[in-house]
Amino acid sequence: MLDKVVIANRGEIALRILRACHALGIRTVAVHSTVDRNLKHVAMADESVCIGPAPSSESYLNMASIIAAAEVTDAQAIHPGYGFLSENADFAERVEQSGFVFIGPRAETIRLMGDKVEAIRAMKDAGVPCVPGSGGPLGDDNAANIKIAREIGYPIIVKAAGGGGGRGMRVVHTEAHLNAAIQTTKSEAKAAFGNDMVYMEKFLENPRHVEIQVLADGQGNAIHLGERDCSMQRRHQKVVEEAPAPGITVEQRAEIGKVCVEACIRIGYRGAGTFEFLYENGRFYFIEMNTRIQVEHPVTELVTGIDLVREQLMIASGRKLSIKQEDVVLEGHAIECRINAEDPETFMPCPGLINHFHAPGGPGVRVDSHIYEGYRVPPNYDSMIGKLIVHGPDRETAIARMRVALSEMVVDGIKTNIPLQQRILSDAGFQQGGMNIHYLEKRLKEQKEKTIAIV
Ligand code: ADP
Repeated sequence: MLDKVVIANRGEIALRILRACHALGIRTVAVHSTVDRNLKHVAMADESVCIGPAPSSESYLNMASIIAAAEVTDAQAIHPGYGFLSENADFAERVEQSGFVFIGPRAETIRLMGDKVEAIRAMKDAGVPCVPGSGGPLGDDNAANIKIAREIGYPIIVKAAGGGGGRGMRVVHTEAHLNAAIQTTKSEAKAAFGNDMVYMEKFLENPRHVEIQVLADGQGNAIHLGERDCSMQRRHQKVVEEAPAPGITVEQRAEIGKVCVEACIRIGYRGAGTFEFLYENGRFYFIEMNTRIQVEHPVTELVTGIDLVREQLMIASGRKLSIKQEDVVLEGHAIECRINAEDPETFMPCPGLINHFHAPGGPGVRVDSHIYEGYRVPPNYDSMIGKLIVHGPDRETAIARMRVALSEMVVDGIKTNIPLQQRILSDAGFQQGGMNIHYLEKRLKEQKEKTIAIV
């Protein structure tokens, strides 16, 4: 077992990793920026190292500082969490070259999955269902591109191979706009990602976002832990997640899960990972693989009873997977609401001092958050200040528990999106389940129009 781990992240996920380490008897090193000295996990870690000033480019993205922190504290491994350097293949490589364990897949796997064209190619070869598309990068031959688009059928979406975070994509409805869309996406991709490679795929109009969680030990063993539905999104950002996905049958789960497990074994995947799919008319279409722990991992933990961060640490220690596929049994239903420090109407970030905090509780309620009374949310990072996760024997009970938990939660001093989450949880469409990825934005737009009309 590892004996000391550097936590190369901040906020709730840093605390989550710290808890998993301590439960395994692993000592922890918190690294933090100058404005993050007062983070909860920094106080709880065995050691802490300040790695730079507030801007993440100089601290949480500063590879040399993080590796130096591992060196001076004599740690063995680095856990990158999510965001920041978690899917940076160069970082994974430098960590391993410096003699530390990177808690995640091998650098070459991260690199493969970071190039969407290559990732789709690899997944197709492994038998994973993908969105019908160009199957490779688009060239400069306009006539050839028109031909590809006609074969796929409009609408199509032009996507940057190096894209991420919902950027570098353009939907095209008619042939007349195709060439211009390709050229614009290319130049944007070049500026944003330093890579002008673009590809084309069918634009699915009303899909749901359904993703499969996997664990693999890189020693030939892999399992899946079922799916999560993350269709409640605003600007491609997930707002509410749940497991299992409403309406997915046991057979569908077993089938798509098996495909993902086989793909993991084929590419020698190591660690926790997520296969993201668009789901439409009963079919799954692979869009990308995330090679890290995800924000929404707790819903899977609550329905499977498996601690995913613990498993990441075990795998990084060189252990073989101890869980067999037949040991993974889904029980009940779990929902997660992301709690953000933002205005619930305008979505403007709202950092500042939390002068009162009360966490909800009761059966099946879990709060993953680093905030406390007197904590000041800095303006420099993501606005998520925690996650409220509930579990119940069925979806209806989980919704009821979430509504009570949201009503109990008090975060005073700053604005949060709790009122928005309450509206979502009491929405008839959400309660019915199985809404598509455009549903939330559509409802928000309707509400806004209604408010304006009343004023
Ligand atoms: P990123 O890495 O930027 O998150 P993804 O490939 O995961 O990019 O796509 C982000 C989002 O864009 C998806 O969740 C979906 O909402 C939309 N999207 C991407 N590809 C398609 C497609 N072929 N059809 C419809 N929507 C798509």
